[in-house]
Amino acid sequence: MAEIILDSKAYKHNLNLISSHIGSHSSPNVELAAVLKDNAYGHGLNEIASIAAEYGIKSVFVKNHNEAIQVCELFPQVTALYGMPQGDFAKNIAFVIHDKEHISALPKGTKVELKVNAGMNRNGIQPSELQSFIKDILQKGLELIGVFSHNGYGDDLDSAFFDTQSNFALIKQEVLHLSQKYGFAPPRFHSLSTSGAIRVASESGITDDLVRIGIGAYGYLDVSFKNPISAKLQKVASLYADRVSTRFLHKGERIGYSGCTTLESPQVISTYDIGYGDGFFRVSEHHKVHTTNGLQILPRSSMDCFSCFCDEPRICVFKDVSELAKAFGTISYEILTHLSPSIKRTII
Ligand SMILES: *Cc1c(COP(=O)(O)O)cnc(C)c1O
Repeated sequence: MAEIILDSKAYKHNLNLISSHIGSHSSPNVELAAVLKDNAYGHGLNEIASIAAEYGIKSVFVKNHNEAIQVCELFPQVTALYGMPQGDFAKNIAFVIHDKEHISALPKGTKVELKVNAGMNRNGIQPSELQSFIKDILQKGLELIGVFSHNGYGDDLDSAFFDTQSNFALIKQEVLHLSQKYGFAPPRFHSLSTSGAIRVASESGITDDLVRIGIGAYGYLDVSFKNPISAKLQKVASLYADRVSTRFLHKGERIGYSGCTTLESPQVISTYDIGYGDGFFRVSEHHKVHTTNGLQILPRSSMDCFSCFCDEPRICVFKDVSELAKAFGTISYEILTHLSPSIKRTII
């Protein structure tokens, strides 16, 4: 049966690496929060949560209420980035306010984080709406534990990155002013994901209270700027597929749907139990994709299997998805998040 092996040492190594890079350049109290959304980037929410908790992570970010309830006993603070609760929820789950209707949807006493648009123009309220939202949050009796934004320019050497950071600095000032005016405790401030955190730590030092580390912890950081981290990260997930069947075919025989691959010589060929139904992108005649040992994954792959010229009982489909991402014209995040939750996960 196909299997994803999760290297817990690699995850912890990556957090140590990022933490020491950030810590040596920033105020000493920047908290490292783990982003576990979307089934921990396809790695497996419960598995990565257990490793993160063992490491000592205190705050995590998940996609929604459903993910939050799966991990809320492992961490003091869990934030659901999207959506409102469906039914009861634990006290340590915070929900994100993007809109006034979210304020009315939540019961009194609920922890919330307010998302503010600092220049990415994707989610969050406008900075000019801060006072109005904060007044409503207080009036509703919600507990404002955080104010945050997301910098959409962290991966590129685009000056818009710094404009976004300056906008967030103004947002912080305004919130601190309002906290004095209305007498609520200053919330935690955060604006940086992996790439931005690495970059700001190298350049000016991080002044936020917390950074939200996703992709870097899983071992990837594909950015266009030079940094001391990318080359030292270790990949956490590797995917293995097991043989379903083996046969010997003659020259000229064709394999799979539409007979897409034609044998140029007699070959031993086997199928392995990973297909696009398992979230592994469909390999067609437009892609040239190889396993870790350099065997071509022959087009076209099927819903539940692919073929290779070999007869090994088990093959490693990837230890690193960077090449696959290139072959499919996408980014490592997308290859990873697609991995089906039903593939067996084993932590080593
Ligand atoms: C996904 C996400 C992150 C993590 O980004 P990485 O590039 O994976 O580090 C941080 N913050 C928010 C709001 C996100 O949605």
